Amino acid sequence: MDPHGSLGSHLWDTSDLYRNSVIQLQEAADTMRLDPNIAERLKVPKRALIVSVPIRLDDGSIRVFEGYRVQHNMTLGPGKGGIRFHQDVNLSEVAGLAMLMTFKCSLVGLPLGGAKGGIRVDPNKLSRQEAQALTRRYTTEINMIIGPDKDIPAPDVGTDAQHMAWMMDTFSQERGFAIPGVVTGKPIEIGGSLGRAESTGRGVVYTIQHAAKHLAHIGQAAPKIDGTTTVAVHGFGKVGNVAALEIFHLGTKVVAVSDAYGGIYNKNGLNIPEVMKYFNVHRKVVGYPEAEPISNEDLLALPVDVLIPAAIDGVITKANVGRIKAKIIAEGANGPITSDALKELEERGAFIIPDVLCNAGGVIVSYFEWVQGIQNFFWSENEVNAKLAEVMAAAFKKVVDVQSRYQCGMKTAALIAGVERLNRAMLLRGLFP
Ligand code: NAD
Repeated sequence: MDPHGSLGSHLWDTSDLYRNSVIQLQEAADTMRLDPNIAERLKVPKRALIVSVPIRLDDGSIRVFEGYRVQHNMTLGPGKGGIRFHQDVNLSEVAGLAMLMTFKCSLVGLPLGGAKGGIRVDPNKLSRQEAQALTRRYTTEINMIIGPDKDIPAPDVGTDAQHMAWMMDTFSQERGFAIPGVVTGKPIEIGGSLGRAESTGRGVVYTIQHAAKHLAHIGQAAPKIDGTTTVAVHGFGKVGNVAALEIFHLGTKVVAVSDAYGGIYNKNGLNIPEVMKYFNVHRKVVGYPEAEPISNEDLLALPVDVLIPAAIDGVITKANVGRIKAKIIAEGANGPITSDALKELEERGAFIIPDVLCNAGGVIVSYFEWVQGIQNFFWSENEVNAKLAEVMAAAFKKVVDVQSRYQCGMKTAALIAGVERLNRAMLLRGLFP
């Protein structure tokens, strides 16, 4: 059978991320014997909007950027998913990311569907003014399909709380009153949640702790997540730098971190709070004095206990999988391991914490932010973190239970756990008309 399915492949099927997501969905569908009608519907998004986003650049010229918002499945509730600013963004990649959001929200039990957005732009080449103009015009262009009970964007690669503030303000200006619930990942001052900025990285580290305990419990060699454990982090952005800091605070040796400009390595462990100070000044990790340089490729191949790919998708592929030595690989990023590389890693006995589980902390606390906003009642950071830990623990348990029930890989198990709930909901709602 064609693993890409028969529907719409000419339109969606142009990115590796989308193709890999469909292959992995099909594997989950085959393993759980999913109703083929449901599988077919899940392979394509419900709705996609492509917009032209014209802005005036600082030099006075006008440039038109291409933007997207894709809603993959909204059976369980409003769409939820980040906005990515990156030069390689395209419709297919955004569709693949939206699909992952559907499974992630379902897996962790949220009343939300899967969506994603993006603009094909290199955010590092924009001035603050240009970034603001781009964000505001994009918000206006997609305004008819977003809203607190329709579809709620959040930050992703290349965007942060400031972009969410501009989106919230633009959406609110157009309606005439403040509508904070239209986005999550906002600054605290305008309705953001304590702990949201750290939630994804924090959740990544919770899953690593669960993985180590789980491996020990089933009698496999497991790192203790203490001073004897070595860690490498690929990508030092919103997810990677928090994950690095949190796992450093557990006493582990974070021997290498990297960003798009390259990496740094110290076999005795990096002082991550100091690296963060350096990064906040220089906007890159390369040049940090207490370390030697390392390439991104070599960082991925380090013989560490835990590898956290937290940058972009498709970094561990058929081409470099033979070099990967980490025992636990925690997918902080979405889709960092291609499906063929994943098979090889699993055959070699690496323990993979799949993206839809590993990085779900962000959408969980986004959901908390949305709930707090609706109630106009805000929680302490301790409450947020405690609830996050509870939801992540339940999701981890759900995935290992499915994994042992079907004797499948962790990726397949995580997708099955997400699809099981969605399948029941889709069958109950039925097919309109
Ligand atoms: P970010 O833009 O804050 O950081 C991305 C980091 O990756 C930066 O350090 C950048 O320099 C680095 N990078 C980019 N290209 C690279 C390359 N080719 N090699 C090495 N490093 C590279 O983005 P983020 O929000 O941290 O997101 C990272 C990943 O996590 C993405 O896959 C995103 O979809 C996923 N994710 C993010 C969140 C969130 O809450 N931000 C939630 C879930 C999943």
